Amino acid sequence: MLKNEFIRASEGIIMNTYKRVPVVFVEGKDCMLIDSEGNKYLDMVGGLAASGMGHSPDFLVEAIMNQAKKLMHVTNYYWNEPQYELAKLLVDNSFGDKVFFCNSGAEANEAALKLARKYGYKMFDTPRYEIVTVSESFHGRTLGTLSATAKESYREGYKPLPEGFKQVPFNDVESLENAVSEKTCAIMFEPLQGEGGLTQVSEAFVNKVNDLAKKQGLLIIVDEIQCGLGRTGAMFAYEQYGIIPDIMSLAKTMAGGFPIGAIVATEKVADAWNPGDHGTTFGGNPLACAAGAATMKEIINQNIPEKVKEDGAYLIQKLQMLKEKYDFVKQVKGKGLMVGLELNFPGDEIVRKAFDKKLIINCTSGKVLRFLPPMVIKKEEIDLFVNTLDQVFQEVN
Ligand SMILES: *Cc1c(COP(=O)(O)O)cnc(C)c1O
Repeated sequence: MLKNEFIRASEGIIMNTYKRVPVVFVEGKDCMLIDSEGNKYLDMVGGLAASGMGHSPDFLVEAIMNQAKKLMHVTNYYWNEPQYELAKLLVDNSFGDKVFFCNSGAEANEAALKLARKYGYKMFDTPRYEIVTVSESFHGRTLGTLSATAKESYREGYKPLPEGFKQVPFNDVESLENAVSEKTCAIMFEPLQGEGGLTQVSEAFVNKVNDLAKKQGLLIIVDEIQCGLGRTGAMFAYEQYGIIPDIMSLAKTMAGGFPIGAIVATEKVADAWNPGDHGTTFGGNPLACAAGAATMKEIINQNIPEKVKEDGAYLIQKLQMLKEKYDFVKQVKGKGLMVGLELNFPGDEIVRKAFDKKLIINCTSGKVLRFLPPMVIKKEEIDLFVNTLDQVFQEVN
């Protein structure tokens, strides 16, 4: 089938939930994607941070093939080895003591919300169930996680949504203090926001969150689905912002592009769950966990957080130069290899023009160009990226 024919046929039978670029990718290696016509692209979207170790890295292909030959799935009525191995890597490298596995980011956040509520009902004489979230947040598309997500347009047509959520402006200390009541069990936020436009949590907000957690026993839930696992230049973003979480949600990069999700929690919080309280058929299956363990080991062995810290600083410095050069660039945002450029006009045209030059970038929140390259990106590729973007900027200037 010719490309346009193929796309028309796909439109005929695939639900229309994405505004897609008319391209069909058939292959990927490291930071490169190849389309059905043989064109090569530099990928600065990185599967929206899911392909953190690059496309089809050898270590991951090998881990998946080996495990697939041995055992792909058993239910959680039984134990399996890859699940233990990945859980051990997660607890040994984070604040957490215990892990629950699922299959996506939204599922991880759904689990985090349910665990926080279970804890709130069990631990206090007056049950606590309310969860405070912040503006511009994104936590997923299930009904529960939509209640936690700020963006109103995502909720349209789905009401009534689950109750018991309060939203405060991100980094607004006073609003946070006012929103917390005797019914509040948790506060949830992304230390570095992804879909919301790469805003970082402020020190004052973190201090207030830690303070409320200590004084009133509130749980801190960090959504590190996008910013975790090396992306900001530390294994987990909470380390860099001085947050002491009780629950953390993970997905995206965790299995290098293979579907997986997890929450990590302290023992005290995790123990609110007993057999039957939560579950999922595929969660923690040997295949996904083998992919996850292989990815985690590679992130640790290659010291990806340190690499991201250095290359992120290099990238941000180069983007600062673009900001100096073009008036329409308002600011450079983000940290590590999760960065963006805020423009003073909608970014769609830039994204299209970059695509014509075989550069894949994304725009979020309307005006923020977002860059989430595979964390293994090379310096030469960063240079190529910035030079190409410079050319695009020149064209629209
Ligand atoms: C992508 C993302 C989610 C949702 O993950 P899915 O796997 O798409 O369900 C939740 N939170 C954050 C911060 C994300 O970036």
